[in-house]
Amino acid sequence: MLVQDGLLVGVIIQKRNAVSLSLWEWKNHKIPYIIKESDFSASALSLIKDAIATFNRKVACISWTPRKNEPDFVRIRSGAGCVSSIGRDGGMQDLYLGSNCYYKGVVLHEMNHATGFYHEQSRPDRDKYVQVNWDNIQSDKRLDFKKETQYIDTLGAPYDYGSIMHYGKDTFSANGKPTLIPLFDPKGTMGQRTDLSLVDIWKINKLYKCTGIQPPIPKWMVGLSTLSIPGTTTTEQSLMSTTSAVSSTSSTAATTSNTNCLENLTGKLKKEYTGSREITNTR
Ligand SMILES: [Zn+2]
Repeated sequence: MLVQDGLLVGVIIQKRNAVSLSLWEWKNHKIPYIIKESDFSASALSLIKDAIATFNRKVACISWTPRKNEPDFVRIRSGAGCVSSIGRDGGMQDLYLGSNCYYKGVVLHEMNHATGFYHEQSRPDRDKYVQVNWDNIQSDKRLDFKKETQYIDTLGAPYDYGSIMHYGKDTFSANGKPTLIPLFDPKGTMGQRTDLSLVDIWKINKLYKCTGIQPPIPKWMVGLSTLSIPGTTTTEQSLMSTTSAVSSTSSTAATTSNTNCLENLTGKLKKEYTGSREITNTR
């Protein structure tokens, strides 16, 4: 595969917002999991199972399935904060859900990290869509606002403020002022932790090769012309040319959870290829 060929010659320069290495993707359209049930109360367990059922109902292409004997799988357990690797580590990998993570949208957010997705505002092209107010960010959280420029694939999807993977306007604010300002649709939803957006769902299906070329149109793009965004991609131009004729397909009108979560990139394969450990925080 192209990306592995890239690895073999030591060149990986794909601009992505899902994991760009096939090594990190799950095989056979399945994400095997186990739940360490003794870690959770009955209500937390019910919420986790509900989130898994929701993911499987909404995403046609890949499903979270109870592990049989697959070598690679996710163990869902309690821990400090909400923590997940990005994509498949190889072997058992832990997805931690601490007591502050018991919101269905937060569980879906962590599941989507494990499925293979970074935060939406980690996209290499994010500066076209959000302004990062570095001075307002808690000093120890500034790394969490950096762009990913390698190992990330936007999959041809439009930027999605309504993604369940996007930070909110005041995430990790040090002073109550915004850390992220949307450059379009300033009154729209950003940072929701309620449900996968239609673009989120499309991207999962796209990553796992189950969907067509044209992504859904996010709400913020409706009514904009291609002249509104310098440097628009071909996909965005194509979508915007049709937005006057359609209504928004973006899901999500939701509230932002105050729940912190951590994502780490500690898998053996990732360490090998990135040469570093990466830990990010979000909520
Ligand atoms: Zn996250």
